[in-house]
Amino acid sequence: MFMDQPTPNYRICKNCGNRNHPDSGQCPWCGAALRRPMDWFSFFGLILILLVVIGLIVYAVWIRSPSESKIHLPVISHSVE
Ligand SMILES: [Zn+2]
Repeated sequence: MFMDQPTPNYRICKNCGNRNHPDSGQCPWCGAALRRPMDWFSFFGLILILLVVIGLIVYAVWIRSPSESKIHLPVISHSVE
């Protein structure tokens, strides 16, 4: 995954504009956190997975709860004949 991307020899800090090591996660000049674009994708994916898991848990709780799942539907099936 990472080998396909052209890795630059340095990473420019967006806070102070100095060049840093591409592997460093923090700027040694100003102390700002150096974020990679891949981190945003993984962060977004993590939130997406968390939302799906939370949704499944809420769905399971909603299905299992006896009081909430009782939805009275109007029965008109036998009145047709
Ligand atoms: Zn900096």
